[in-house]
Amino acid sequence: MDEILFTDMQAEFGNSLEKKFRKLLKKSAFLESIKEGELVALKVHVGERGNLGYVNPNFARIVVEEVKAVGAKPFLTDTNTLYSGGRHNGVDHSLTAARHGFTLATVGAPFIAADGVRGLDYREVAVAGRHFKKAKLAGGILQADRIILLNHFKGHIEAGFGGAIKNLSMGCASIAGKMEQHADSKPKVKSENCTGCRQCYWACPTGAISMEENKAVIDYELCIGCGQCVAACNYEAMLAGDSADNQSFIQKVTEYAFAAADYFGDRAYYINFAINIAPDCDCWPANDVPLVEDVGILAGGNPFALDKASLDLVSQAKAHRTSRHYDKIRGGHNLFQEVYPDIHSDTTFEYAIQQFNVSLDYKLRQLK
Ligand code: SF4
Ligand code: SF4
Repeated sequence: MDEILFTDMQAEFGNSLEKKFRKLLKKSAFLESIKEGELVALKVHVGERGNLGYVNPNFARIVVEEVKAVGAKPFLTDTNTLYSGGRHNGVDHSLTAARHGFTLATVGAPFIAADGVRGLDYREVAVAGRHFKKAKLAGGILQADRIILLNHFKGHIEAGFGGAIKNLSMGCASIAGKMEQHADSKPKVKSENCTGCRQCYWACPTGAISMEENKAVIDYELCIGCGQCVAACNYEAMLAGDSADNQSFIQKVTEYAFAAADYFGDRAYYINFAINIAPDCDCWPANDVPLVEDVGILAGGNPFALDKASLDLVSQAKAHRTSRHYDKIRGGHNLFQEVYPDIHSDTTFEYAIQQFNVSLDYKLRQLK
């Protein structure tokens, strides 16, 4: 049975949330296991531009300080996005990170995009899934000695909810890895946006792209659907294929999460922030009123058990009167299935047990 450390949001003079969070970090055996000089990735989500609901960078600062105190070298990291926006390439991503407070000056560690300037840097990690035998995970994450994932626990329009599992799967995948989780078909060129820059042509591993009248053209006989061209394009001209159906999407996400968790084993630690529990994820360019009241911070070494514990607590939390989903919230076993009735978000747990024999058993240990 996995122990999940938990601290609620109540604070007072002499016992601030910062102090409680430091206590939680120190109670975990993970900090002690970090060795001097190790490169420790802090997997964050810096929030899409327009979204202000992401995890407060001060929590990252506290983790950075504690990791530095044991003599290791932390860095903040995240992978570039499949879609266009403020985080599709390493340059925009670093600028968005700085704009949202994730800077060397404020947090004490540099932000480094994990899959490089154009999101092309990945390595394949084996996974015995129904959909995938290999997961394309970002090189910068896999090269870290250890990883601490700071996960915002909240809703997600396709997965139902996002926490540790989602931050591992989509969050640690390169753009090509994101595309194969999201899409069931090969990319398409939107010719009117194509500038003829040839970045996709150079990135394509199979020679499937040619240039005709200075526009990219895909030969679908040669295309293997790897998604590298989608990563390379900076002009919204190379579009990802059609979305996978919802159940298969959740299974794919679960496979990627297991691949990343298995790769790191006990070199990974997971922290869920059940705070600002918005209906949508932090990739959404706006954060709506939270669904329920803040719950607190949970941490553990098993991401599946951690998300289960977070879901259990969040589902019992009191609904926010001004949430647009207020009338749907009934205090059942899965808040997000009430909010998104068409998404069977428990699939991620059922599939993780069936396919990977993952344990969801946990014991909550509340810290003061
Ligand atoms: S998805 Fe197809 S066209 Fe794009 S880089 Fe991969 S093989 Fe080439
Ligand atoms: S990378 Fe984009 S803009 Fe550049 S040639 Fe390819 S499709 Fe066109």
